Amino acid sequence: MPFQQELNVAKEAVLKASLLCSAAQRGLVDAEKHDKADKSPVTVADYGAQALVLSTLAQAFPKDPAVGEEDSSDLRKPENAELFARVVEYAQKIDGSLDADSVLAAIDRGNHAGGADGRFWTLDPIDGTKGFLRGEQYAVALALIENGQVVLGVLGCPNLPVDPANPDSEKGCILFAVQGQGAFQAPLSDIAAAVPISTDSVSEAAHAVFCESVESGHTAHGRSAAIAEALGTAVEPFRMDSQCKYAAVSRGQASVYLRLPTRPGYEEKIWDHAAGYVVLQEAGGKIADTFGQPLDFSLGRTLKNNKGIVATSPAVFETVVKAVVASGQSSKAV
Ligand code: AMP
Ligand code: MG
Repeated sequence: MPFQQELNVAKEAVLKASLLCSAAQRGLVDAEKHDKADKSPVTVADYGAQALVLSTLAQAFPKDPAVGEEDSSDLRKPENAELFARVVEYAQKIDGSLDADSVLAAIDRGNHAGGADGRFWTLDPIDGTKGFLRGEQYAVALALIENGQVVLGVLGCPNLPVDPANPDSEKGCILFAVQGQGAFQAPLSDIAAAVPISTDSVSEAAHAVFCESVESGHTAHGRSAAIAEALGTAVEPFRMDSQCKYAAVSRGQASVYLRLPTRPGYEEKIWDHAAGYVVLQEAGGKIADTFGQPLDFSLGRTLKNNKGIVATSPAVFETVVKAVVASGQSSKAV
C-alpha cells in the first residue's frame, strides 16, 4: 500500500505531540503563554508540538520540506527566555535526544512556501489554540501534500471522546487517512486499535446536525444560523474548536461543518484544513468553499483562491452548498 511508512511516522509524530499538549494543558501557567505579533495566542505546547513533529519527520524523511504554523523568531528573543526554556523542557520529556538548538532547528523546518510541485508536509501543531487555552477541544493536524493533492492526513484530538455517542467515554482520539485507503480512528491510548469511520447517511438537510467554530471571529455565526433556518434544520447546532469539526463530520457526529468568512481579506491557511480534508473525504464526506468551488492546496501557504469552507456528509452536500451560495448572494456576506 502506498504511503505506509509515511503514515506510520506521521501517526507516531502526532501521538508524541498530543502527549506533550495534554501534559501542558493540565498545568498551563502564564509563563507558558505568549501573544504573537498578530495578537493570536501561542503556548509552550504549540512550539513543543511543532518541534517534536518536525524533528520526527526530519529523521525519517530528511528531504521533505514542511509548512508549519509556528517559527522560532519570538523564542529566540531574550525576553522570552523562560518560555523557550519551558518549550525545551516539555519537548525533552517526550524525546530525550532534543536540546535547545535542535528544538529551534526543528521548529524552523516549517518555513517552506508550499506550492504545486513535489511533496511537502503541513502542520498545525495546535489547531484551536483558543480552545486549548479554555481547556476544551484542539487538534494536532499533520498532512502530506504531493503535487497539490492532499494524500495523507493525521489528526490528534486529545480531548475528543473516543465514542461519539458517549461524551463520558475515554478522551483522546487519532484519526487518519491515506488517499484511496479509507479513514480510521483509534484511541490515543492504543493507536494500533484502529477502526474504519464514515460519515452519516442523513439525506434531508432538515435532519442535518451543524457544527461551527466557537470563536465568532473565525466564522459568521449569524449567517450560519440563517442558512440552517432556510434549510429547515430542527436540530441544535454545536460549536467546537479546531479540526475536531472535520473529525465530527467524518465519524457521523455532525452532518455539516460551515466556516463562513468574517472579514474580506482573510485567507484560510492550508494547515487549518489539509489533514481534516483528506480524513473527511476518505470517510465519504464532501468539501467545497462557500462559492461551491473545490479547495486548492497548490497555491502556497494559504487557500488563496477559496473563501470559507462547507464540509458535509455526502447526501446533503448539494443542498447545503446551494443554500450557502444563495446566502452569500442575498446577504452582506464577505
Ligand atoms: P477554529 O478552532 O475552527 O475556530 O479555527 C482555529 C483557526 O482559525 C486558527 O488556527 C486560525 O488559523 C484560524 N483563524 C484565525 N483568524 C481567522 C479568521 N478571521 N477567519 C477564519 N479563520 C481564522
Ligand atoms: Mg489552526
